[in-house]
Amino acid sequence: MLNACTNNASVVESEDKLSQDEKSEIEIENIMPVENERDIDLQYVDNQRYEFLDGFIIEEVMYYAVGEYGEYFFTPGDWTNEFMLHLVAVSEDGVKFAKDWLNYEDDKRVVFVYGNMKHDSPTNPDSFIQQIWGGGGVMGNHEVFINMADEHMPAHIVHEACHAILRMQGRMSNFPFPNENSGAMFLEEGLCTVIEYLFSLETEHIYHLYTGYDIIKLYYPDDAYKMNKYEPFKEITASQLHEMALISFVIDDNFEDETEFGLIYPQLMSYGTAASFVCYLLEYKGTKEDFMRVYDDIHLMNEVYGMNMEAMIVVWLEFLEQYK
Ligand SMILES: [Zn+2]
Repeated sequence: MLNACTNNASVVESEDKLSQDEKSEIEIENIMPVENERDIDLQYVDNQRYEFLDGFIIEEVMYYAVGEYGEYFFTPGDWTNEFMLHLVAVSEDGVKFAKDWLNYEDDKRVVFVYGNMKHDSPTNPDSFIQQIWGGGGVMGNHEVFINMADEHMPAHIVHEACHAILRMQGRMSNFPFPNENSGAMFLEEGLCTVIEYLFSLETEHIYHLYTGYDIIKLYYPDDAYKMNKYEPFKEITASQLHEMALISFVIDDNFEDETEFGLIYPQLMSYGTAASFVCYLLEYKGTKEDFMRVYDDIHLMNEVYGMNMEAMIVVWLEFLEQYK
């Protein structure tokens, strides 16, 4: 499994992008069980409002499917049934991959709510989908919400599924948050990104790995100028996560802002650097089980790896030098 960190895999550009002709084929009567690789039925739901998290989130739902590993809700949008079933198939494989990696054997399903529409002025104040255009997130224990343009999907699925599975396992690392305002615990973010990366190397599906670089370029173009010395990644390579870390050092001005990155392990307080660090530990410093012990309790760093976090950060930074 970990050797996958050293494999290369090509990324094929947007074969799953739908042509206008395909989109115009959407007909309600067409939204019926169709031939698909998973033999999963897609049901049309007549603009029903679904409550998630005891009504904390309420989404309009047009289509619904249930598989072995996930339950899938699609909010109103320009979907084709083929595309929805494709997302279901990728999600089924992705959740299985994440569950296997994290050794989660319970058969509880991850709930996915998918959107493919930008809502400039949200029509539903209780919707989460309408607030997260271009990204995804996990709410509650096992509800994943992703709202992305068709041509950027499938993406985020495995990363968010990993968050959900970790929560279903009751697994919360005691790694620190950068500051009291941050909702991101970056050891978890790094782990979720690494597992998604490993899935993208292994899957037969086209899978868009949204590393920090791509996200910044797409959604934060004002910051993209800082990276003009870097070319976009044409293929997923063994060194991709480590190159991402170097880009994060540029974007984040070497993590020197204490108010943003805190005083404890500031270099690990980003998606890009945390993923590189986790990948480094998994590939060079021990087994997956070793890492997960440290993930569960970072005070075991010394016992498991023979050095504390500060010392490990120093050797990881030395390791990164080769990618400059
Ligand atoms: Zn995340």
